[in-house]
Amino acid sequence: MSLSEFNLIERYFTARGVRRDDVVLGVGDDCALLRVPAGMELAVSIDALVEGRHYPQGTDAAALGHKALAVGLSDLAAMGAEPAWATLALSLPEADEGWLQGFADGLFSLARRFRVQLVGGDTVRGPRVISLQLHGFVPQGQALRRDGAKAGDLIYVTGTPGDAGLGLELALGQRSTAAAHADYLRARLDRPEPRVAAGLALRGIASAAIDISDGLAADLGHILERSGVGARLELAQLPCSPAMQHVLPEAAERWRYALASGDDYELCFTVPPARRDAAELVCATLECSCHCIGRIEAEAGLRLVQADGALLQDLPHGFDHFG
Ligand code: ADP
Ligand code: MG
Repeated sequence: MSLSEFNLIERYFTARGVRRDDVVLGVGDDCALLRVPAGMELAVSIDALVEGRHYPQGTDAAALGHKALAVGLSDLAAMGAEPAWATLALSLPEADEGWLQGFADGLFSLARRFRVQLVGGDTVRGPRVISLQLHGFVPQGQALRRDGAKAGDLIYVTGTPGDAGLGLELALGQRSTAAAHADYLRARLDRPEPRVAAGLALRGIASAAIDISDGLAADLGHILERSGVGARLELAQLPCSPAMQHVLPEAAERWRYALASGDDYELCFTVPPARRDAAELVCATLECSCHCIGRIEAEAGLRLVQADGALLQDLPHGFDHFG
């Protein structure tokens, strides 16, 4: 894709979106030149979206542009990092202008909102794979890591996990529901809202954090493992959207989606009891809802407690590409 490659990059990915002062040199040279502010650590995350694997074939190009960036922003959010720069490696079967226009529009409209500048990338011909790397800043030593949870800490989750899993079933035609609910659930799958503001506000408050891409139970499991602790979740406290309530009238079914379906890009985080008020204040002022759903315990493992105090025996599993 030599000549058309340059035209394509020029037309869709150069000189669009925000210009940041910390970008010495952006798209167009062999490397971008970037300035990390003094006192900051660089937080870096990359994700690949593969057609048919991470999103259904035929997904709207603008939604893909949004999602490619949103999943990276969600990683930064989970670390308490402030977004700054993106690089984009695109493998495309053809230079489809309609697709490229939609993809770039979706990407840049989210990038503008979070002041992310696209500073470079690579464009090749091949099966459709979108790899986007995000770079952000976090003050030295203040990142929200997975390994900081302690027994006694409270466990919180933003938003209503499980929606995206239902959205996927709607997208695949495995389920149908009233249009208003279907639109909401599809949007939760296609256009996740990265919880960047929450991640930034939780610096100095949360003891550990992760974003939920593979299901709440599996991702909380990573915090537990890395922190060397266990947890108890109160199933009745799991938040649930009106759409999910409508689609799944059975509580046990809702728990299954909330715990085990992926692609939600909400945050799960832990808070020491002494910082509970600070966390509740953050939650009250956030643009997204935020609920306390359980507690960290010293004993390893995840215990799912029903309203009557009985433990749920079979633990739903999250999404694992090689499982
Ligand atoms: P090189 O041969 O040095 O790898 P390329 O010809 O691949 O350079 O790319 C030319 C310039 O365009 C580089 O600055 C590169 O970062 C940028 N670029 C290529 N593809 C993309 C893309 N999809 N999005 C943003 N920038 C891109
Ligand atoms: Mg290149």
